[in-house]
Amino acid sequence: MAKAIVMQERVHEKLSILADAAKYDVSCASSGSDRKNTNKGLGNAHPGMGICHSYTPDGRCISLLKILLTNHCIYDCAYCVSRKSNDIKRAAFTVQEVVDLTINFYRRNYIEGLFLSSGIFKDPDYTMERLVRIAKDLRTIHKFNGYIHLKAIPGASDELMREAGMYADRLSVNLELPTEEGLKLLAPEKKRADMIQPMNYLKNEIIRLDDERKVLKKVPIFVPAGQSTQVIVGAGKETDKDIVHLASRFYQQFRLKRVYYSGYVPISNDVRLPGLGHQVPMLRENRLYQADWLMRFYGFNAQELLDDAHPHLDTEVDPKLSWALRNLHFFPVDINIADKMLIARVPGIGMNSVNKIISARTFNALGWDQLQQMGVQLNRAKYFITCKKGAMEKKDFTAEQIRRQILHQSHSKYTKLHSSQLSLF
Ligand code: SF4
Repeated sequence: MAKAIVMQERVHEKLSILADAAKYDVSCASSGSDRKNTNKGLGNAHPGMGICHSYTPDGRCISLLKILLTNHCIYDCAYCVSRKSNDIKRAAFTVQEVVDLTINFYRRNYIEGLFLSSGIFKDPDYTMERLVRIAKDLRTIHKFNGYIHLKAIPGASDELMREAGMYADRLSVNLELPTEEGLKLLAPEKKRADMIQPMNYLKNEIIRLDDERKVLKKVPIFVPAGQSTQVIVGAGKETDKDIVHLASRFYQQFRLKRVYYSGYVPISNDVRLPGLGHQVPMLRENRLYQADWLMRFYGFNAQELLDDAHPHLDTEVDPKLSWALRNLHFFPVDINIADKMLIARVPGIGMNSVNKIISARTFNALGWDQLQQMGVQLNRAKYFITCKKGAMEKKDFTAEQIRRQILHQSHSKYTKLHSSQLSLF
């Protein structure tokens, strides 16, 4: 009995250390998986159920059991709290402890899944093998059908990546630093190639199995929620252009489901890093997520959003409005005849409204009242569109005049930008 209590306290202590260490990883959204409850197993990961989505007060998405396997690490990345030279309390779970914690928390309805990352102890394979064993035991011994997001350790073997993909819903290989120069400066022991290799392997395996699925009935599930990555923003000197262009390349090259942007949290006085107290503004992260959203759902490409003349996202207005102000020659757009993807580029019109406009205009030409009823934010859109009643605003405003008017009207919204997450459009 006394031995059991000591064990419990030990696990509890590890949990407080390793859950705290995991909070710097933001790549834990769990959308996109559909793992049904089978074999009278435990739980499911069904889309629409809000599985293991949770938001910390600062707007980051977390999974409720979000832990590191260990915060021991053989590497010394300057920006990381777990780096080997940092004098912190260290701990490591055993495979069985993580499995037991997950099952116990799940049974008590505390969590709906597991987000498991790790420092690297001994070597990448040694660490990855343990991560895989946890996922495998959960799936095969405990018939756990909840969501599992594993960190894929750069440098681990393809064989371990393949096994991880069979048990995890999502795998993420963190790029961490957006540029090669940043990596050389802040994590010189690490190689970009070691990060690219598993991403490439996962992409090829996903494509191969998708192809097999077209001709064969039984093809094993393989990372059904795909792969993602995380980049740290503001630890190095990279511009928003560097980050957005990198994300765009990686979406295309590796079929990533998501890129997560994590503002660097100053944790040391290392001269290579921004000093303590120089926190990356939440607004920078938010703007990057908005630009990312535009690339994934609104047909924008990275070059349109940021180029050498505009290497940083506008802090005053969102990236869509910023693009529109730089490209007034595309406007005004006639809402009743314009192409769908051109309407989607109008500030103040989100994709839901675009779809409503496209289906409604086949019956009648649309006017201002109808557009407002469809959710169009006319305070912004009115400068960029015409409808059956013509233009609402005179057409010869300059970009600067439109910007000032919109900012003036939206004053309260734009002054609250530092609070939590922005609405996207
Ligand atoms: S390898 Fe990962 S855990 Fe280790 S120091 Fe670098 S960023 Fe931190």
